[in-house]
Amino acid sequence: MEKRVFNFSAGPSMLPVEVLEQAQRELVCYPSCGMSVMEMSHRSKMFESILAKAKADLKELMHIPDNYKIMFLQGGGSTQFAMVPLNLMNKNNKADYVITGQWAKKAAEEAKKYGQVNIVATSADTTFNRIPELDSSKMDPEADYFYITLNNTVYGTHWTNLPDTGNVPLVGDMSSSILSEEIDITKFGLLYAGAQKNLGPAGVTVVIIREDLLGNAMDFTPTMLRYDIHAENDSLYNTPPTYGIYFMGLVFDWVKRQGGVAALQKINEHKASLLYDFLDASSLFRGTVVPKDRSLMNAPFVLPTDELNAKFIKEAEALGFVNLKGHRTIGGMRASMYNAMPVEGVEQLVAFMKKFEMENK
Ligand SMILES: *Cc1c(COP(=O)(O)O)cnc(C)c1O
Repeated sequence: MEKRVFNFSAGPSMLPVEVLEQAQRELVCYPSCGMSVMEMSHRSKMFESILAKAKADLKELMHIPDNYKIMFLQGGGSTQFAMVPLNLMNKNNKADYVITGQWAKKAAEEAKKYGQVNIVATSADTTFNRIPELDSSKMDPEADYFYITLNNTVYGTHWTNLPDTGNVPLVGDMSSSILSEEIDITKFGLLYAGAQKNLGPAGVTVVIIREDLLGNAMDFTPTMLRYDIHAENDSLYNTPPTYGIYFMGLVFDWVKRQGGVAALQKINEHKASLLYDFLDASSLFRGTVVPKDRSLMNAPFVLPTDELNAKFIKEAEALGFVNLKGHRTIGGMRASMYNAMPVEGVEQLVAFMKKFEMENK
């Protein structure tokens, strides 16, 4: 096999090698089937069991209560920006949003097409380097839902304390943090995540919704964008992304073998602290996020000049640490350390950063 690099991409991102190898073994013939999962009817017994197992495993891994529905949809995280208001902005036709970066901003822009959006808080004034403080007098008790992005992939911030929204259902985009840390599902009315950061290949979006929120979509909502339709049909209203669902199921098995989400959270905390401790001690590198709001998954950092940033990225790449360039909107560097990034990847990156600091002081 060719040598694999440490891929610090924000997404699509690294997948566990043993999962890739299992998919490779089963690519041409899924066990006792004589065909690839890609060639199976989505209505076949075999595929239905793949789907049911993936759902059951996710339910177990995330401790999802019985009164929530799990759906595997298409359209990526971005389609949820529209599906959420189309399906949930249905009582008072308004919702609260907290703007913590470009994904939250895009979600709010989309929601404005369907109703009134109230921006409760934003951290735009400090280039989204923190989770903004919430003033409860700005929260609308009549809002149909309260929207947050749990982990801000671009800016590297993360909600540690969830807002108390009372009876207003909390909606969370957890595209870049699903299965990376334990989370109390019962605090949410709806959670969603695109697969390509922590779950598998791009093409599947996981949606977890509390049952009482189903069934009130706006009249003109396209059928394919209605949660109730997908829930009633168990993600089989039309052909779902079958191969992506299968692959995600392999990742769920892998997460179980690692000891579940709590065990992965410990490892993720360890990986993140290796990098953040180094950044805090460094006189050359600087982390850009307020320490209390730092993400475990995405760590942005900078050097004193653009020249040094470019030099670092180039030298890192030559050593097999790839995709460290920061998001095009903020520059600098960003190391994404999703579940599949091994501890050695971060250890070796930090060792290289130490060496780079010595040579460029
Ligand atoms: C990547 C990402 C998205 C967008 O996902 P797509 O699948 O590309 O539409 C949305 N929200 C967050 C937090 C993300 O990290």
